[in-house]
Amino acid sequence: MPNFYTDNDDIRFLFKHIDLGALAKLCEEDFKFAGQFDYAPGDAGEAIQNYDMVLESLGQLSGDFIAPRAEDVDNEGNALNEDGTVSYAKGIQESLEKLAKAEVMGFTLPYRFGGLNFPNLVYSMAIEIVSRADASLMNIFGLQGIAETINAFASEEIKEQYLYDFAAGKVTGAMVLTEPDAGSDLQSVKLRAFTDDNGNWFLHGVKRFITNGCGDVLLVLARSEPDRAGGLGLSLFVCDRGPTVHIRRLEDKLGIHGSPTCEIFFDNTPCQIIGERRRGLAPYVASLMNGARIGIAAQSVGIAEAAFHVARDYAATRYQFGVAIERLPAVRDMLMDMKIDIEAGRALLYEASRVVDMEFGYNKRIRIQSASGQGRGQAA
Ligand SMILES: Cc1cc2nc3c(=O)[nH]c(=O)nc-3n(C[C@H](O)[C@H](O)[C@H](O)COP(=O)(O)OP(=O)(O)OC[C@H]3O[C@@H](n4cnc5c(N)ncnc54)[C@H](O)[C@@H]3O)c2cc1C
Repeated sequence: MPNFYTDNDDIRFLFKHIDLGALAKLCEEDFKFAGQFDYAPGDAGEAIQNYDMVLESLGQLSGDFIAPRAEDVDNEGNALNEDGTVSYAKGIQESLEKLAKAEVMGFTLPYRFGGLNFPNLVYSMAIEIVSRADASLMNIFGLQGIAETINAFASEEIKEQYLYDFAAGKVTGAMVLTEPDAGSDLQSVKLRAFTDDNGNWFLHGVKRFITNGCGDVLLVLARSEPDRAGGLGLSLFVCDRGPTVHIRRLEDKLGIHGSPTCEIFFDNTPCQIIGERRRGLAPYVASLMNGARIGIAAQSVGIAEAAFHVARDYAATRYQFGVAIERLPAVRDMLMDMKIDIEAGRALLYEASRVVDMEFGYNKRIRIQSASGQGRGQAA
């Protein structure tokens, strides 16, 4: 199969015309990491070259390795084993190993944890490319937001404990929010978080519809303040998959069969709190969900791109009335509409990702300058 990055003129066009240099400058904090870490660029040109190289190798992996396995992955699905563990489809396991080897499991994580320190925009491009190859795999590849949330809000100790393993692709994560009676309305989450006499935290209760709930590291929204209803009674916790985390069932879905959607029972599971008490839903989960929304948008563009290729190939090879049906105006119109919708969706996705990068980058710059005592006037 072709390289899913280099064969896509529209991604290449946007890559060339969006001001990636400005994003690189913000992410690289004026290129101060050059010389400190392997691969840290010394200027914007070098950074853009790095983005291009990583996307090209991911495009190759997606076309040559991931896409040819996608159909088998979907037919095979996941298995819930008798001991409560979950086995991924063979192709998912193999692709995850390849992605780890390609060092692309810490796209936006800082260099100091082994991440690539890339802008969100480039990560969106990567998600789109992987989704075109296998939308199920994207659900696991796209859960890098778990590590980003730990990086943004957890203590230094927790970061040290988890982020190296995320960046190395040794662990995968899950965002564990939804419950049987708390879907859109996350303020009504009931799963209990409580402390023992020594102040250690534990989780007890049920979560449902959790993508990759069988993953190694779980970010769990739970009620830490039993007397407080609503969002202000909720905190965010991190725990490891272990003997007190029971996967009770896997959902039987219409599609993305390679992505396990789990029901989980936490039976007094030891955990650690992320950041401050009562800030679990806002701002921590709100931030996680904002990232997830962009990820799902990128997945949707990737799926649409894949569908377009199937439609176009069919229309080019199916003959009626002595011509390939792509030459019939009614069919051609449909193909053109698909292409236009995809390009419009992609432009919107990339612009949204770029704005997120600018917001993160400038906020970080302001924080750093405030910490070093520089005035606001110098922030620009
Ligand atoms: C494949 C899959 C993967 C998932 N992965 C995860 C995961 O990784 N982690 C996780 O925590 N959760 C996950 N979820 C759960 C998902 O976040 C919830 O399904 C979602 O929040 C909606 O909740 P619900 O299904 O209970 O629907 P409900 O909240 O019961 O909503 C039912 C219907 O009412 C509508 N509705 C609800 N409230 C309003 C309102 N105020 N105004 C207008 N309409 C409204 C909804 O749009 C929907 O059509 C996943 C779900 C699926 C299907």
